[in-house]
Amino acid sequence: MSEDYRAMWQDLGLDLAAHDQLLAVLGAGYKQIFLAQEDRPKGMEYFNFVVSQVHGLRIKELQDAKQAGRKIIGSFCVFVPEEIVLAADGVLVGLCSGADFAMEEVEKVLPRNTCALIKSAFGFKLGKVCPYLESADLIVGENTCDGKKKAYETLDTLVPSLYVMDLPQVKSEQGKELLASEYERFKKAMEELSGVVIDAERLKKGIDLVNAKRKALKRLYELRKHDPAPISGLDALLITQVSFYDDPVRFTNAVNALCDELEEKVKAGQGARPKGAPRVLMSGCPMAVPNWKVPWIIESAGAVIVGEESCVGERGVRNLVDDSGASVEQLMAAIVERYYKIDCAIFTPNPDRPAHVEEMFRDYNAQGVIHYCLQFCQPYQMEAIPVENRLKAKGLPTLRLETDYSAEDAGQLQTRVEAFLEMLS
Ligand code: SF4
Ligand code: SF4
Repeated sequence: MSEDYRAMWQDLGLDLAAHDQLLAVLGAGYKQIFLAQEDRPKGMEYFNFVVSQVHGLRIKELQDAKQAGRKIIGSFCVFVPEEIVLAADGVLVGLCSGADFAMEEVEKVLPRNTCALIKSAFGFKLGKVCPYLESADLIVGENTCDGKKKAYETLDTLVPSLYVMDLPQVKSEQGKELLASEYERFKKAMEELSGVVIDAERLKKGIDLVNAKRKALKRLYELRKHDPAPISGLDALLITQVSFYDDPVRFTNAVNALCDELEEKVKAGQGARPKGAPRVLMSGCPMAVPNWKVPWIIESAGAVIVGEESCVGERGVRNLVDDSGASVEQLMAAIVERYYKIDCAIFTPNPDRPAHVEEMFRDYNAQGVIHYCLQFCQPYQMEAIPVENRLKAKGLPTLRLETDYSAEDAGQLQTRVEAFLEMLS
């Protein structure tokens, strides 16, 4: 891929040597973790191809979209409504925040004790290795956790156009009003940027596209409830990660085609792991591509991950937007209703999330929950305690892990995971 796209990367201002280094590390990690799995579904070939072209063909497609007048919007959070971006004929891409890069540079502008996800976003910018970030006409930040909202003040000095969306932290009438007014402000910003007036027809089309993507992912997740689960947790996670940057229509078709295949596997009793393998539910911080360390450790130890209670998982697809409204106002209200239900740990209090973890444990026929948290992520670390207390009170096994993106603690994590899985079986 590199030779075909080098000129494009150069035009985007990437540091080609650093970028080569990043691609080499990612390629080696992908081969070791994903391609080494046995009996993967045939439908995974599409996702292998997409990953192989993550900085190639997909970036070319984004440049072509820009040439055609479409705007590229980068985001770091599932609160940024893709429906509104699509209604303005834009393209929404999730910005990579799943690997350490240029950490020395990062620690000159951010405190060392910042979570790996935020540091990674800065590392990709300061190391000049992310073609998505460099393609974006607008980068949308959001006032969620303290780390992000303060980091955006610094990011604003590093990128040409940062837009910060304010978000409620309390579920209340005022909270909902704030969300509604912020989504209205975002709609206007998208209209100004794109020159497109968002009417009801455009908004409904955007809603239907995103609903279809969420339905396809939900269909995939439903299939994982079977024992044996027809797909590994690693592959399911990868698909969810790809959903943040692939073309939504093509992605939805590929997931549905894969699900057709998985349904046959379920009928034939074929699984990614043998029937009876320990079934684990992951819960906690979102895992952005290429953050695969903990799932790899869990599945290498013989378990199968059957669900992710995370924004890169169930939380991202749990609810659909009601598309029955006839006016822009009704459809915007439906978007607010849907996003207001997101149970991110930045909300206080946040009783829905522990309840959802328990519900998922039962629905997905899990045997244990692994609560995954990034170091220095206060919202999820704080919330790990009530989640664990609730599960323990019901006798549901839980393991709490805290880590970052480095490989240094892999041995220690492996020992703890293996002991947990042994207890489950
Ligand atoms: S965990 Fe919270 S801040 Fe992070 S992507 Fe999800 S909703 Fe956004
Ligand atoms: S992982 Fe935690 S600290 Fe990091 S950006 Fe997400 S919510 Fe904020």
